[in-house]
Amino acid sequence: MIDFSIAPKTQKIKRLTHENALYVRSLARYYDEHEHQDLTDEEKDILREKEAAIQKLAAEPGVAEGQFMTRIITREEACWGDPVTGGAINTSGLGNSSIRAVATPEQKARFDKMFCSMAITEPGFGSDTSAVAATAKLDPETNEWIINGEKIFVTSGHRCEAIVVWATLDKSKGRAAIKSFIVEKFRKGCTLTKLEHKLGIRASDTASIVFEDCRIPYDNILGSPEVREAKGGQVGVLATFDATRPSVAAQGIGVGRAALDFTKEKLEEAGYTFPYDRGMHSLNAVQREIMDMEANLDAARYLVWQSASMLDKNVRNSLESSMGKAKAGRVIGQVCQRCVALLGPLGYSREWLVEKWMRDCKINDIYEGTGQIQMLVVCRQILGFSRNQLK
Ligand SMILES: Cc1cc2nc3c(=O)[nH]c(=O)nc-3n(C[C@H](O)[C@H](O)[C@H](O)COP(=O)(O)OP(=O)(O)OC[C@H]3O[C@@H](n4cnc5c(N)ncnc54)[C@H](O)[C@@H]3O)c2cc1C
Repeated sequence: MIDFSIAPKTQKIKRLTHENALYVRSLARYYDEHEHQDLTDEEKDILREKEAAIQKLAAEPGVAEGQFMTRIITREEACWGDPVTGGAINTSGLGNSSIRAVATPEQKARFDKMFCSMAITEPGFGSDTSAVAATAKLDPETNEWIINGEKIFVTSGHRCEAIVVWATLDKSKGRAAIKSFIVEKFRKGCTLTKLEHKLGIRASDTASIVFEDCRIPYDNILGSPEVREAKGGQVGVLATFDATRPSVAAQGIGVGRAALDFTKEKLEEAGYTFPYDRGMHSLNAVQREIMDMEANLDAARYLVWQSASMLDKNVRNSLESSMGKAKAGRVIGQVCQRCVALLGPLGYSREWLVEKWMRDCKINDIYEGTGQIQMLVVCRQILGFSRNQLK
């Protein structure tokens, strides 16, 4: 039987997250307009207190979803408030998702309490992750890895405490030689060189980081020996995308739902009703459009839930995580743009947050693999084509 209901404890966590989201939303416009400015200490304290209440509830006994499902559900809820403004007190970045997916128990204990970002992209490539040029060389005398290279567009690269860095052991060996390494920010030779000014998610810091003979302990190579020795493919670094893509998709769905909820509320204030028990032929264009957007958001959400529940069951989910991200990225772009239009000139004005959500949502179709790349992954898997047969 397919059951889309959420366990009572998860529902409680979701409700608390929603309350936090309302507070975060009240700060969102200010930090969008003051890019790179940190939250005040008072704001951080309020957020930490609210976060602590959620953690306390999560630790209490009671049936909840698995850890990935819970994260996906709360991520949507938090991002309904704002996708990035609470980031200043973040304790979990994309790097943490990859640690959760492939780290050894010892590494999870060492790093999962640290706020970790994820550094794949370089000046020479974005989508084509086989082109990683940053290098990791083992120094046999000290048993340390020496990392060299430049990473760009690292989300939370400034605020994080550690970075999961993709680097190659030997460029001539292609994908098989690309591994991920955890570099704590305090390491010598790890330097932040630039902060981006952006269209959307402006409260999130996006950094360039240079690694110059940056030495890290041998055990900072991420994953079990199976992952470390993998000749590329599913059990290698790419497996981390299966864990991070549902999270990015849930972020987008939260933003899309925020725009849609707000628009519906304003339309209701203007006298529109949304009767779900009537045939399409008796609805007007606005009513149909709202219902159509709701159905599409639900479809994206359930695809993402499917991919997250597979992670909880330790079942391979590459196809489903790409399907969810592709669908979510496309749907929320359409939803946010239509909401701006349906609200008329005020939709475009800074008086409301809808124009901001329209800017914020675009990123979900870019990072952790663009929409086009997700479609490639989906097509390859459905048609049984290799990476070389379909590019
Ligand atoms: C705000 C922001 C935050 C980011 N955060 C991170 C981060 O935390 N960590 C990180 O490593 N990176 C991050 N990135 C980088 C992001 O992952 C890349 O921008 C993304 O992977 C796309 O790469 P690219 O920009 O080089 O585009 P390109 O790879 O140059 O692609 C350009 C366009 O061509 C399309 N395209 C490329 N190849 C194909 C193909 N084979 N078939 C069809 N279409 C194709 C793409 O979809 C895209 O539309 C971030 C980027 C932004 C803007």
